[in-house]
Amino acid sequence: MKKLVLLILTLILSVIFVGCSREDDITLKSNHPPTQTDKDQIEVITSFSMIEDMTKSIGGKHVKVTNLVPIGTDPHDYEPKPDDMKDIARSDLILYNGLNLEGGDKGWLAKVLDTTDYQKRNAVAVSKDVKPMYIGDEDNKEVNPHAFIDPYVGEKMVKAITSSLIQKNPEHEAYFKKNEARYLKSLHEIERDYDKKLNSIPKDNKVFVTSEQAFQYLTSRYNLKEGYIWAIDTEENGSPEQIKNLVQFIHRNKPPVLFIESNVDKRPMETVSTESNVKIYPKPIYSDEIGKKGEDADTYLSYLRYNLEVISDGLNSKNK
Ligand SMILES: [Zn+2]
Repeated sequence: MKKLVLLILTLILSVIFVGCSREDDITLKSNHPPTQTDKDQIEVITSFSMIEDMTKSIGGKHVKVTNLVPIGTDPHDYEPKPDDMKDIARSDLILYNGLNLEGGDKGWLAKVLDTTDYQKRNAVAVSKDVKPMYIGDEDNKEVNPHAFIDPYVGEKMVKAITSSLIQKNPEHEAYFKKNEARYLKSLHEIERDYDKKLNSIPKDNKVFVTSEQAFQYLTSRYNLKEGYIWAIDTEENGSPEQIKNLVQFIHRNKPPVLFIESNVDKRPMETVSTESNVKIYPKPIYSDEIGKKGEDADTYLSYLRYNLEVISDGLNSKNK
């Protein structure tokens, strides 16, 4: 009796499988690269909030996104959790910024990817087509990771994400392309607004001060003189020497306001403000994260719009 039940069950199951496999036949007859997936949803790991948001916008219903560095946490230094390791092992695609954001060749993400050859092949640096800029001096040059602050760079990242998704799942190419086109339309409008507003700031006001030297890609595109307390979050943040240097920069260049990023310690800039007598802009500026859901700047596009408002309002104000 048991055997008969088993036989019937086997028969039913094989009918179901034959039915299913017709749609999934591609796997059998195609010569897909080994990393390609035919699942309806690509399981994507993203390293930080901006790539998570872009990937969800382009991938829509055909991606399941798990993000690693939570909002409020520094993406330069991150300690992956045991759950992250499991998610990474299970994923079809890993999208990260590159340009040293995740600590570079010896950083936290490289260490994780080094443990598995398969996942290394599935990892794509979405800023791979971006021309890097450098912080530090000649002897101590380091790639500045914060390229995404510039909307023109965002465009390159979105294109890289779209082509990675298509490569993983060519069946949904038309869907991904449609989402990309819609996204780029908004992004192009934002680029035009950046050009218009930032190019029209009075020359004497084109001095831009934040805690970290994160805005270099933007300040060099729009000819803003950039002042900062520290070059990158991984070094000492707000030593008396750093503060003294910035106060001197402020005396020389006279910025209209000072900006503080959403995810840094406010105290060093408050000291700079007291010592230089230049006010801090009342709203935070966002650098290497977007806002939490429901807050200002909670998508990459609204992050760009928000920052533009803050920068153009701040730099057009007279505080001198
Ligand atoms: Zn940073």
